[in-house]
Amino acid sequence: MPELPEVQTIVNDLITSGLVGRRIIKAEVQWPRTIATSSVHRFCRLMRARRIERIERRGKYILMSLDDQQTLGVHLRMTGRFQWGALGESLDKHVHVALSIDDGRVLCFHDTRKFGRFYLVKEPLALLGNLGPEPLSPAFTVAVFKYRLAGRQRQIKPLLLDQTFLAGLGNIYVDEALWAARIHPMRASDSLNADEIEALYESIRRVLRQGIRHAGTTLGSGSNNFYSLGRARGGNASHLKVFRRTGAPCPRCRQQIRRIVVAQRSSHVCEHCQRQG
Ligand SMILES: [Zn+2]
Repeated sequence: MPELPEVQTIVNDLITSGLVGRRIIKAEVQWPRTIATSSVHRFCRLMRARRIERIERRGKYILMSLDDQQTLGVHLRMTGRFQWGALGESLDKHVHVALSIDDGRVLCFHDTRKFGRFYLVKEPLALLGNLGPEPLSPAFTVAVFKYRLAGRQRQIKPLLLDQTFLAGLGNIYVDEALWAARIHPMRASDSLNADEIEALYESIRRVLRQGIRHAGTTLGSGSNNFYSLGRARGGNASHLKVFRRTGAPCPRCRQQIRRIVVAQRSSHVCEHCQRQG
């Protein structure tokens, strides 16, 4: 599933492609359930002739602000991605939404698993209100992180995956951040000392920035992997230290990286560096 760096990469690529300022001539929907907020008919009517004024990210959502004060939020879930098509071209069977643009291109939403969702809302808070802070925003300080951790008594990994606690993290970047901070994913969140909290805070921000710098993480070559606009691969996989490196030596201590299950999610740890305590 695309996480913060992958979604940011798609947003950056959509902006670079010149989509901001363009007008949508028409919307077509081939899989009605992709549209979460209204009927297909109403969605297509509301999208027609709208100009895209801004594209940004919040958590794992892509947000397109339209010229009528509405916001189109897209959550990619497992396999959603965008690709360009051309007017008059027949649509791939995995393209569930197609937005025809006034410059002759068609922005296609391709989603083999069909879990991706489009939300057309007047009030973005209705969609985003429950999200925790943005880990890379200046407002998210180590003091804020400490404050949010105080009194929480969950295992640290599922807590970091909880989008209402902190927005944007998923399995890859949580495993990487916990390894970098030498914290075992099963540690209780209220057992972390001040140094560990600070190390974790720094690690989360570092692994996310690294992921963005390398345009996201694409693992393997299957069609369900992360691809940015136009099937562009992210280059961050070769920079991962533990994720999907089961059996390989820990880059820090050379002990074998192990795969364990934490809160039903596969997790990659060096149990020498990351002690359960
Ligand atoms: Zn190690």
